[in-house]
Amino acid sequence: MSTPNTKGFQVAVIGGGVCGLACAIALQNAGIAVEIFEAAVSFGEVGAGIGLGPNAIRALEAMGLLNAVLGKLPPGSLSSKGFLFYSGVGNHELVYDYPPAPEDASISMHRAVFLDALVGLVDPRHTHFNKRCTSISELPASPGRLVVHFQDGSTHETDVVLGADGIKSVVRDFVVRASGAAVGGANEKHVAFSNTAAYRGLIPAALLKAAGFKTQLTDRPACFIGPDKHVIVVPIKNGELINVAAFSARYDVPIGSQDPPAGTPWVDEISREDLQKEFEGWGSDIATLLRFMPEKTIRWSVHVVYPPLESYARGRVALLGDAAHAMLPHLGAGAGQGIEDAFLLTRLLSHPQASVGNVQAILQVYSDIRRPRSQMVWDASQRAGAVYDGHGPRGPTAQGSAEDLRDLWKPVWRHDLDAEFEDAIGKLRSNTTF
Ligand SMILES: Cc1cc2nc3c(=O)[nH]c(=O)nc-3n(C[C@H](O)[C@H](O)[C@H](O)COP(=O)(O)OP(=O)(O)OC[C@H]3O[C@@H](n4cnc5c(N)ncnc54)[C@H](O)[C@@H]3O)c2cc1C
Repeated sequence: MSTPNTKGFQVAVIGGGVCGLACAIALQNAGIAVEIFEAAVSFGEVGAGIGLGPNAIRALEAMGLLNAVLGKLPPGSLSSKGFLFYSGVGNHELVYDYPPAPEDASISMHRAVFLDALVGLVDPRHTHFNKRCTSISELPASPGRLVVHFQDGSTHETDVVLGADGIKSVVRDFVVRASGAAVGGANEKHVAFSNTAAYRGLIPAALLKAAGFKTQLTDRPACFIGPDKHVIVVPIKNGELINVAAFSARYDVPIGSQDPPAGTPWVDEISREDLQKEFEGWGSDIATLLRFMPEKTIRWSVHVVYPPLESYARGRVALLGDAAHAMLPHLGAGAGQGIEDAFLLTRLLSHPQASVGNVQAILQVYSDIRRPRSQMVWDASQRAGAVYDGHGPRGPTAQGSAEDLRDLWKPVWRHDLDAEFEDAIGKLRSNTTF
């Protein structure tokens, strides 16, 4: 499963979520010595769906991971399926039909399926569970060499650390800290409540149809839009299951200006009755849908990385995925950005001229390239939510929303990964690293 270490340097990936796993497998397959440290006792994902757009699909393919994922899905799962936008209130009129294009193939699946595909490719000899990283430090005696500290008191020495430890990243503390300074204030943590709550559920399509759900459920994802809220329904498992994500947001409170009351958990439960109250006055299909949400529905108080990081790298430590740029989920693009990160990291670290002597410069160029790209997607995701919720630039009318919805995904999906890599190589040549 693993190839000999061709690079002479060792990498530790902290966090075995989708981005950490994708990165670790691709590095491992490129012949780089990689160890993966996961806080949980096994790999695991929340019971919800995930969509991957064409940009993420191309990155997975380039990393040699796409076939493993497609192998877990029914034939025909990879296809172009633009969103259908309906009014969430009134009679659920079609507001905008996002045109599918053959070059924009994407996939939607249960998260567990995605994870399962990746887990089958990880070298178990280099996977360590129950290893919660608590900090990273530099080894004074060997400049550049790093020590990863774990909650159980153990440590691990390595040359490179890649932090894929999610929004509550501990590795980020190292990256944002000016040498020697302590990590303290909320801003330094770069995590803020987005004033958005997400409610998720999986409902058998047959139940909805039998209950008189009027809007035709096709194999395309649909979004019901309305004042301060929207509901996304995505068919998965050949249309047998409908993945529901309902969102409710406040637009009178800027992100980062107000935290939920102290002690409020990021994830808690809300009764179905209270959820139904949240959507009082919405159309009959939304009422039907909510009747089938779990009695106790999970509520995510969606947090994001904010303010944005000034860099995704410091020394020989770099961040990827949510650790670097957790964003609002309104374009279904967060994991895709982490997969793009993993792709560039793998290509750069496996480059014939990459070595332990220049890895710091490589990680800085990785940050210089990936930061503007993923922050652009961060901004676009926030803007998309505002459009769904009637706060788009052209206002809440059907016509205004339709105009704002046009080409919404274009900058996310139409991204040239090879050009990005060439850009990085150009920077490494011009600063004489390569
Ligand atoms: C409602 C909702 C819907 C979404 N839908 C989509 C979608 O359709 N498409 C999409 O692309 N994105 C979507 N996203 C975003 C996507 O879920 C995330 O961007 C993605 O899961 C991030 O992956 P990650 O591997 O970076 O982090 P995570 O998935 O958070 O994984 C982090 C891993 O690190 C481990 N870990 C944490 N701390 C430590 C530590 N200290 N030491 C060791 N291990 C640690 C964790 O146990 C976990 O396994 C959605 C998000 C939300 C909230």
